[in-house]
Amino acid sequence: MEYELKDKLISKKQHPCGFNEWEIIRTGADYKLKCLGCGHIILVDYSILKKMTKQIIKKEN
Ligand SMILES: [Zn+2]
Repeated sequence: MEYELKDKLISKKQHPCGFNEWEIIRTGADYKLKCLGCGHIILVDYSILKKMTKQIIKKEN
């Protein structure tokens, strides 16, 4: 799977705020994701990101 900046993803588990949609706000060695429910930001590496992803929603080109 490929992840790009501004892509959104649906995670398997929901965030404690009840949302399970995230936006990728930084890529690289680690990925920064912003919860679209509460704005909380998490930092994960690629293997964790892969595990938590249920679906990627590609940004519009
Ligand atoms: Zn949240």
